[in-house]
Amino acid sequence: MKFKTVIQRPRGTYDLLFEEADFFINLKNEVIDHSLIYSFNYIQTPALEDERVFTSSLGNTTDVIEKEMFYIKEKEGGNKYVLKPEGTASIIRAYLQNGMHSFPQPVKLFYIDKMYRREKPQAGRFREHYQWGLEIIGSADPVYDAQIIEVFDRFFKKFKLIDYIFKINSLGCKKDRKSYLKDLKKYYRKNLKNICPDCQKRYKKNPLRLLDCKKEKDEKYKKDAPNIINYLCKDCENHISKVLEYLDILEIKYELDSSLVRGFDYYNKTVFEIFFTESNKAIGGGGRYDNLAQYLGGKNTPSTGGAIGIERLIEILKIHNIKFKENKKLRIFIAHTTEKTKDYALKIYDELSRNCIQVFENFSKNTLSSQLELANKLGVRFCLIVGHQEIGNKTVILKDMHKRSQDIISINNIIEEIKKRLKL
Ligand SMILES: [Zn+2]
Ligand SMILES: [Zn+2]
Repeated sequence: MKFKTVIQRPRGTYDLLFEEADFFINLKNEVIDHSLIYSFNYIQTPALEDERVFTSSLGNTTDVIEKEMFYIKEKEGGNKYVLKPEGTASIIRAYLQNGMHSFPQPVKLFYIDKMYRREKPQAGRFREHYQWGLEIIGSADPVYDAQIIEVFDRFFKKFKLIDYIFKINSLGCKKDRKSYLKDLKKYYRKNLKNICPDCQKRYKKNPLRLLDCKKEKDEKYKKDAPNIINYLCKDCENHISKVLEYLDILEIKYELDSSLVRGFDYYNKTVFEIFFTESNKAIGGGGRYDNLAQYLGGKNTPSTGGAIGIERLIEILKIHNIKFKENKKLRIFIAHTTEKTKDYALKIYDELSRNCIQVFENFSKNTLSSQLELANKLGVRFCLIVGHQEIGNKTVILKDMHKRSQDIISINNIIEEIKKRLKL
């Protein structure tokens, strides 16, 4: 079968190529090193999860559950799977299933993984995107709410970023929220006809999200709405004060924001979001989710965490012109002069690669000029050239492409010589 046009990738996804791919891989390595230094363990969960992992925990009235999950249909069998829309519920599922409550608590886990949402494709929004997430499972201690923020903060500081702020709020416990929501609804009831249609829906289905409205005309109602901080019980009040105290000790900039509610129902007590001055959308956020394990059929497991959108983080790093240390790339090219000298070049290529020296080649070309042309395009510093004479003498020509000079080096000390020249 022949297609008239090339088959395209699904909407809202992207291919990661060349320089962008290099940037991504460098960033990913930094994220992994950084998370390991703060003693988090890497975890990977499947892209597919039982839909109940999310339907029982995120909240029925959230956009994700209402319209954004990708369902996987099996030809047979009644199981309903979804592509995971977020990381935390999936990790708690793994924690419970793998009996991690018998490990020393808390268990600190991190991931850098793909998430899927059927959002309307638009600039900067992807249906498949990467998230870097941290979870600290099995402790109610406020020091861990602060630690999640600390790890992100120190990551930004590594790149000398300064134009950001952590916005923080407390959603209290279930009891606090119940009395708060009662008063919030009472307050909005008076203005029900004046607020935007979305807010009218929120009022009915998920009143906490009234505080999330971004419409300017609703701003005045939001401003005078009751403040959740005034509804916190003693325990919840102490908890948030301790979190802020730890952030002060760590000298981390934050701002209390009583309108911050986060998207999912599983949050309680501390919630936070990270804002950079360059963009009005949060690049990440998180909070405490003490009841999530119970929603998934486990026992009470107080926990806290957070995640950052990698695509948004890359945007910020690019705005700040952040470059990663040049790796030892694009430095050596091996060229052969004829089909007969190719075997010899192949052996040298193998020898160098086994000694961890990155070598470029184009064995498919048999003229020296076309190989050197490619070497020039790649911007390599050195070219190794193998001709008939070199094979006979057990040597190779080492051409310095910058200085335009060349030397004959013996095949016996080729590794040493190249390492010396590359200052490895
Ligand atoms: Zn409380
Ligand atoms: Zn509104």
